[in-house]
Amino acid sequence: MRKFHAALLIGAAGLGLHASVGAAPVEIDLVPIVKVEAPEKPRAINHVLIISEDGLRADAVATLHLKWHDLMRKRGAYSDHALTIRDASTLPAHASMLSGVEPKTHGLTWNTWRPREGYIKSPTIFSHAQDAGLTTAFFTGKSKLRHIVPPGTVGMYERPGYYCKKVAEQAAEYLMAARPALAFVHFSDPDELGHSKGWMSSAQKNAITNSDRCLGIIYEALEKSGLIDDTLIIVSADHGGHNRVHSGAKRIDREIPWIACGPGVREDYVMDDPPSTLDTAATALYALGLKIPAEIVGRPRTDIFIDATPILLR
Ligand SMILES: [Zn+2]
Repeated sequence: MRKFHAALLIGAAGLGLHASVGAAPVEIDLVPIVKVEAPEKPRAINHVLIISEDGLRADAVATLHLKWHDLMRKRGAYSDHALTIRDASTLPAHASMLSGVEPKTHGLTWNTWRPREGYIKSPTIFSHAQDAGLTTAFFTGKSKLRHIVPPGTVGMYERPGYYCKKVAEQAAEYLMAARPALAFVHFSDPDELGHSKGWMSSAQKNAITNSDRCLGIIYEALEKSGLIDDTLIIVSADHGGHNRVHSGAKRIDREIPWIACGPGVREDYVMDDPPSTLDTAATALYALGLKIPAEIVGRPRTDIFIDATPILLR
């Protein structure tokens, strides 16, 4: 499976995707010979980071001119029409995003923290990564997401605070220091203000701008640490919303942003075929070079890569 990386990276090399990071000093050769370039350091994907902004509608990202989201769209592949599952609520939808299966399979059909109900019934991308010996981390703003993390399935689980600033700051610090192979970061802000003031109200738009800043905290940390060079970042959401609710009955409740950027990923590329949130799990495993178990319903989105052999789908 690791062979895939080599194939993927041929396309990524020399694209100058991250020309601003660690630019080499200019060398002057005194001997006029044809210089054989040293083989470029492989630009494999060694890390996958999924950032989910709770309740962030796809059209908000498309229209609000958010600095960091816009930057990632420019540097990545994206869709404004990705869809979450029919049950567009936080716990079931995140469980599907991170397991690649529907609620009837993962079993998390409620939307509160119920410690006595136990944990997700399906393996998650974290348990798969751990089985393969990879390191994992999970930073959440809402404690109910703990249901997705059975004991021992994630190396680092933390709930730094409810709002995204604390979550982003702690996650950024941890990512730079520990450099986990697979990480998930959750921001609560858009959902909170959607419920209290209404979806796309000016208060929620402010919360979304705040969430954008939190994304920036993480993005800058990846740049500073050099992780940006070998990390696939996927930014998405669990659901949208309208008025002060999200039931999933309306499409606006289910439409979520989906942005991917990283080495070998197409730039400023609009995906023709909008992803499902179930694809997020499959794409994460694929990018890490892990086997995608047959139970996973989502598809690895190989179309985001410049040069990846599409996987034949079941
Ligand atoms: Zn909500």
